[in-house]
Amino acid sequence: MSALLVVSDLSKAFGGLTANDGISFEVERGEILGVIGPNGAGKSTLFDLLTGFQRPDRGSVLLEGRELRGLRPDVISRAGVARTFQKLKPFADMTVTENVIVGAISRTASLAEARDAALDALHQVDLLEKRHSFARELSTGQRKRLELARGLATRPKLLLMDEVTGGVDQRTIPGLVDLVLSLKERGVTVVTIEHNMQVLMRLADRVLALRSGRRIAFGAPDSVRATPAVIDAYLGT
Ligand code: ADP
Ligand code: MG
Repeated sequence: MSALLVVSDLSKAFGGLTANDGISFEVERGEILGVIGPNGAGKSTLFDLLTGFQRPDRGSVLLEGRELRGLRPDVISRAGVARTFQKLKPFADMTVTENVIVGAISRTASLAEARDAALDALHQVDLLEKRHSFARELSTGQRKRLELARGLATRPKLLLMDEVTGGVDQRTIPGLVDLVLSLKERGVTVVTIEHNMQVLMRLADRVLALRSGRRIAFGAPDSVRATPAVIDAYLGT
C-alpha cells in the first residue's frame, strides 16, 4: 500500500531566504513522524505549506494520491489534514465544548453532528469532565489537550502537531506523550514537531531532520540521531 502522504521537492522562499528547499519525505498510515531542526530550520513553514497557509513555490503534496499543493486551507482541512498550533489561541470566553465545535463544524452537516464529534474528541484527549469550563480556566497542559481535540474533531486522516510538549512543565509531559501514543493506537497518523529529544525518541517511528530549509536526515530515530549533520546542527554551529 502506498504512503498516506507523499511530499516531493517542496520549496518556499521569502524574499532571498529559502525557508523550505526541495524537501521530500513520506508518511505511512498509522505512523508518528517526528520533525526536528534548530530554530529557523523551516519546520513551521513546512506545516504552513502542507496546510495551505502558504503557497509552495515548487513541489508536490499528495494525500492518498490527491494533489493538495496550492489548495486553500479550508479545502485541505476537508481533505483530512488537521493542525495544532505552537502558539495556543483558544477562544477564552467560550466553553471547552464550544471551542471544539468551532473546529468541527466546517466538516459536519449539522450543529448536532459537530457537537457529537466535539464530545468524542474531548473524550479521546481525556478532557470530557472540563467540557463546561471556559477555556481561560484551563491549565497549560489542558489547553494543549483542547488544541488537540480541536484538530481531532475534524476526524483527520493526518494530524500535524506543532510542539505539543513545548511550554508545558515537566510533570505534564508524560501525560501528553501517553495521549499522543493513544491516538496512534486508535489509528491516527501524526506528524509532530518536537524539540524534546527524549519525547521524540519515545514517540517517533521515523524522524525528518531539517536545517536551513533543507532535509539533512530522514529515517529511523536512532539513525537520524546518529547522523553527523544532525549532531552538528544540535551542537549549534
Ligand atoms: P522553524 O519553525 O523551524 O523555527 P520557520 O519555518 O518558522 O522555522 O522559519 C524558517 C525561516 O523562514 C526563518 O528564517 C523565518 O524567519 C522565515 N519565515 C518564516 N515564515 C516567514 C514569513 N511569513 N515571511 C518571511 N519569512 C518567514
Ligand atoms: Mg516553528
